[in-house]
Amino acid sequence: VRRLAQEEFAPRAAHWDETETFPAENLARLAEEGLRGILTPKEYGGAGLGAMEMAIVLEELAAACVATADAYHNAVTISQLPLVLHGTEEQKSKYLVPAATGMTFNSFALTEPGAGSDAGAITTRAEPCEGGWVLNGHKVFATLSGVASALFVAARTEKGISLFIVDADTPGLKIGPRARLMGQRGLDTGDVILENCFVPSENLLGQEGQGLRTCLQSINMARIGAGALSVGIARQALEQSVRYAKRRVAYGRPIAELQGIQFTLADAATEIDAARLLVYRAARLADAGKNYVKEAAMAKLFAATMVRRHTLSAIDLHGGHGYVRQVGVERLHRDAILFGLGGGTAAVMRLAIAQQVLDRS
Ligand SMILES: Cc1cc2nc3c(=O)[nH]c(=O)nc-3n(C[C@H](O)[C@H](O)[C@H](O)COP(=O)(O)OP(=O)(O)OC[C@H]3O[C@@H](n4cnc5c(N)ncnc54)[C@H](O)[C@@H]3O)c2cc1C
Repeated sequence: VRRLAQEEFAPRAAHWDETETFPAENLARLAEEGLRGILTPKEYGGAGLGAMEMAIVLEELAAACVATADAYHNAVTISQLPLVLHGTEEQKSKYLVPAATGMTFNSFALTEPGAGSDAGAITTRAEPCEGGWVLNGHKVFATLSGVASALFVAARTEKGISLFIVDADTPGLKIGPRARLMGQRGLDTGDVILENCFVPSENLLGQEGQGLRTCLQSINMARIGAGALSVGIARQALEQSVRYAKRRVAYGRPIAELQGIQFTLADAATEIDAARLLVYRAARLADAGKNYVKEAAMAKLFAATMVRRHTLSAIDLHGGHGYVRQVGVERLHRDAILFGLGGGTAAVMRLAIAQQVLDRS
């Protein structure tokens, strides 16, 4: 994976940012390598691997090309896990196998204009009708929605919040506009409007009223992934900083010889390792089938804060050149900021950790 990422993906990492395009060809390459269904069991076309392997792959991809890494992250977690966990055999063969083998993407549409952290406040409704349901509502930030062939849509029903598989070509479903993001500009994230969309009964995903639980199970795994992506981005920033510090001469010697610069590099290296270990701990617990809610939230919280700080210190280390887009470190900082927001903000991570700390003691 490292060779593929460094040789094939790294040279074009800036391209996806500059052109705001989705790195479809890189996702196809990852499918060729058999990695598109890394968490999905082999009998459904996946690789049948675990959270640890996912974390290792994500770090390597993010250390080379963040656009590819985060698109892949969404494609292997929230695009497949709801089906792995709760899909019927028919749903798995129709929606999971094509996603795990790299032929399609599924998008995950929970957030709404009036409901983000407070996901229980969604207003999208699913009314029962003959043979199925009729969905109405407005979703925002549905990642992969522009390239997806199906969406997992959370909607309110009699029994609470339920999850529905909605085919992208369903009459009444409108995708877009795409959000113009600060960083991670290759990510295809945008609005989804549902106007009287008919969804057949067999497309209810999991039990009615259990949708939020299913969403959170998938989001928990994505928190480990976000931690691993943060580690990869910080590693890329550190590697660039080390190269620059050895090359850049001031006062007649490389700035790498200045103690102040060395302290910056030492802090980054230490905190990257600490974040990686938190990610690995959460991944090991997940793979052992244990409760990893607290550990995943800790990994994401620590790694997301760390990567914001150390991509900024990488800009400072490059001096004025760090502010130049062609140099590439400012892009890493813009990319890094997302992990304190998407998939649960830092405040929401603290809430999840505190809840577990209080409950377990
Ligand atoms: C690039 C991108 C991709 C995304 N992809 C998806 C996706 O694929 N599917 C999807 O459904 N969603 C997606 N999201 C949505 C994302 O998960 C939400 O943006 C996030 O959960 C925060 O919700 P919000 O933006 O509504 O902020 P709000 O919930 O409105 O938060 C506003 C502020 O209040 C703070 N806050 C909230 N609750 C508390 C609290 N209890 N205590 C203290 N402070 C609090 C927050 O930390 C934040 O600072 C994506 C977002 C982005 C930016």
